[in-house]
Amino acid sequence: MLTTHPFDDDKLREECGVFAIYGTPDAAAHTALGLHALQHRGQEAAGIVAFDGTQFNAHRALGHVGETFAQPDVIGRLNGHAAIGHTRYATTGDTLLRNVQPLFADLAIGGFAIAHNGNLTNNQALRRRLVERGSLFQSTTDTEVVVHLIATALATAVVDRLIDALRQINGAYSFVGLMDDGIVGVRDPNGVRPLVLGRLGDAYVMASETCALDILGADFIRDVEPGEMVIVTRDGLTSRHPFPKASRRFCIFEHIYFARPDSIVEGTSVYDARKRIGAELAREAGVDADVIIPVPDSGVPAALGYANEAGIPFELGIIRNHYVGRTFIEPTDQIRHLGVKLKHNANRAHIEGKRVVLVDDSIVRGTTSTKIVEMVRAAGATEVHMRIASPPTTHSCFYGVDTPRREKLLASQMDIEAMTKFIGADSLAFVTIDGMYRAMGKPEGRNSRDPGFCDACFTGDYPIPLIDFTDGTSDDRVSVLAE
Ligand code: 5GP
Ligand code: MG
Repeated sequence: MLTTHPFDDDKLREECGVFAIYGTPDAAAHTALGLHALQHRGQEAAGIVAFDGTQFNAHRALGHVGETFAQPDVIGRLNGHAAIGHTRYATTGDTLLRNVQPLFADLAIGGFAIAHNGNLTNNQALRRRLVERGSLFQSTTDTEVVVHLIATALATAVVDRLIDALRQINGAYSFVGLMDDGIVGVRDPNGVRPLVLGRLGDAYVMASETCALDILGADFIRDVEPGEMVIVTRDGLTSRHPFPKASRRFCIFEHIYFARPDSIVEGTSVYDARKRIGAELAREAGVDADVIIPVPDSGVPAALGYANEAGIPFELGIIRNHYVGRTFIEPTDQIRHLGVKLKHNANRAHIEGKRVVLVDDSIVRGTTSTKIVEMVRAAGATEVHMRIASPPTTHSCFYGVDTPRREKLLASQMDIEAMTKFIGADSLAFVTIDGMYRAMGKPEGRNSRDPGFCDACFTGDYPIPLIDFTDGTSDDRVSVLAE
């Protein structure tokens, strides 16, 4: 039984970027640059906490990283040799400053700051229990639950308290934390969300994606492993594995859409993965056409892969205005429609009189596809075929990607034929699940021995129990419950 729909309450669900650095005099400035490279993971707010040996210095603000942290007086106040930062994405719930991360707590054993990418799936159950015991919550983010669990844990070392807290939570997470003696980074046991480790001179860096290492000229060391906790202090780096081993379930949507194409995640180039998906799509659902046109920017690598495989010219037939935020982020349907019009324009010379294949990474609500198809027809295309470089998004994500509630997902409501009509295309095809897996280096498709990914948004197979979204007493999966 579904008691509360996750998207009805005012809790925040977010895909975010996290960053941490230890061992450099301007840790906050490095963090600001790292967050700038992670801006695509969250444009709503950003924050940095630095530690200077005596004091924790924090600044959080709504808006883009550059707007806040490019100001010399802001960065100048964030002294310290260690820092963590967060860039936040949230499409629902309040955009209050008190929800902006990193969160900071003055614990009996010292200060601790924490930043989170992901979503906890037993947040409400834990929060209820903590409130009954007297915890006073300051924010509505699920991350604060972890802070309270740490505050009330018995161990003396912060990292032991963090482990104790993490053993009580379910969900997808990459956390970075800042203590008075170092930094810590940890991935959930299934490794749903990304976190990488790098080195810059004597300093250690952790970040959601490798593009945040590149911006600093830091060397990539390796991915933090699923379920691994990495601690960096003046004595160097230590690694712990505090959880029972679980199956690897990296979020496949990071490859499809979320990560930046110049990032290498879990050993795979995001750009190359997208190109290979596009090639699979051309093999599976090719169609006679004169030109392949990406829906920019997210559709570009897949469209290149498609065009190469199909041997059809690739053209930028739609030009994107880069000064508009991602349409998805706008809160109301009305603004979302407006956003799409503000964002894209047809490059008529490459469309008029042509049979066009449009390639995009995904269809969520169908808003983008509908507008783009209309625009391309208005620019004189004789045929418009839509090709999507992911399988139909039929299920909500509860692990940190902010997909809307199920009824709003076009593919949960309609079959391919109805969707084709809805978006106004001459034909519509999605890459198959197996095609997507083949592109990810799994030749046997999804049923290979170790699929390695969370693909719940396409299959409804949720690898982590969704406690908050059941009656709170069972571990039943929401894939059944949300039907
Ligand atoms: P739709 O317009 O169908 O609702 O959404 C599809 C478009 O949104 C695609 O062009 C895709 O690139 C983008 N998109 C897909 N998932 C997400 C997401 O989680 N966040 C944001 N900002 N955009 C997304
Ligand atoms: Mg897009």
